[in-house]
Amino acid sequence: MDVLSSPPRSLDTVCIHAGSEPDALFGAVVPPIYQTSTFVFRSPEEGAARFAGTEPGYIYTRMGNPTIARLEAAVAALEGGTGALATSSGMSAVSTVYFALLSSGDHVVCSASVYGPTRVVLERDFSRFGVQATFVDTSDPEAFREAVTPRTRLVFVETPANPTLALTDLSLAARLAREAGALLVVDNTFMSPILQRPFRFGADIVLHSVTKFLNGHSDVVGGVLVFRDEAVRMRVRAVLQYLGGTMDPHQAWLVLRGLKTLALRVRAAQENARAVAAFLSGHPAVRRVLYPGLAEHPQAALVAAQMDGPGSLLSFELKGGLEAGKKLMKAVRIPALAVSLGGVESLIQHPASMTHAAMSPEARVAAGISDGLVRLSVGCEGAEDLLADLEQALDRLD
Ligand SMILES: *Cc1c(COP(=O)(O)O)cnc(C)c1O
Repeated sequence: MDVLSSPPRSLDTVCIHAGSEPDALFGAVVPPIYQTSTFVFRSPEEGAARFAGTEPGYIYTRMGNPTIARLEAAVAALEGGTGALATSSGMSAVSTVYFALLSSGDHVVCSASVYGPTRVVLERDFSRFGVQATFVDTSDPEAFREAVTPRTRLVFVETPANPTLALTDLSLAARLAREAGALLVVDNTFMSPILQRPFRFGADIVLHSVTKFLNGHSDVVGGVLVFRDEAVRMRVRAVLQYLGGTMDPHQAWLVLRGLKTLALRVRAAQENARAVAAFLSGHPAVRRVLYPGLAEHPQAALVAAQMDGPGSLLSFELKGGLEAGKKLMKAVRIPALAVSLGGVESLIQHPASMTHAAMSPEARVAAGISDGLVRLSVGCEGAEDLLADLEQALDRLD
């Protein structure tokens, strides 16, 4: 229980050392990449013992690999969980959880604003297997409470929400899940364990798209699941090993390398985001800025209660609507026009003309996405350069 509530050391230290104990064979400071699909048994008896689980050791990389195990140990230590499972993508982590924990007749409560495919897999695929899902604005405690039923087996939340940056109260989510006998899964991708550790508030499973902050260099797609309870981890592990959404050893090694600078990157990007949010708040072309670090954020008390910082994602609404959004995308020079987030480089996107262009304007409004809304994942460039670039781009809108 201690390990869940209070990490033993500074997270800076954990980032650098967890999972990176020197290699036992030659003492390499950086762990080797065990780029192998299979492992030799010294005898048939040893093979039998490994399959039976009575002897430690590896069998086949889909079922486990020492490089991947190091990454799992590192992320488990950062989140304060008992263990983890690395997966081939963030979506593989999501679908493996659904597959392992849901059966026909079960009900799921899910934040309406979750990452698109997280919702689509429930709506389009698990509905075919008799799993019912309710999508609700989990930042509204009343609506959230009403969505949970005695058949609810899984509560899945993502906080802050994308792109509105509305927060879900994690303690409330854990209480509602517990009352229903359901497990609480938190997608912590936007915050990283540096800024939010959902186990402290009662989460059962924390998941990440490691594609984003954990790797941080926009060069890997991957995912990870972290568990409070080893028995749940073993249940999910059995499904993952056969479904096959396993991570590759080289992918795991790159993420281990990225993790070493996680705390540094998250803090540097956050400082930049604070400066960008303050600058945008004062600009005449901007109607409003959505950022948990602003004093006027409507859930400031929750920011203080469950987050160790506001992070580096922000959205802002341009007074000039759709056309201004498109113009801004063409006028910025530093932020790349791309989806994804959490890398060292700033990325910008305009949901109404890009990711959410297929939705009707009414559906977009219902999802909190106005025509002039822009999402910015602030990177680690120099703040003065980011501000100067945004200024020249915004000045070209009128
Ligand atoms: C990107 C993302 C995912 C999906 O992860 P992939 O690695 O792209 O499969 C899930 N949740 C959130 C919040 C994300 O940003």
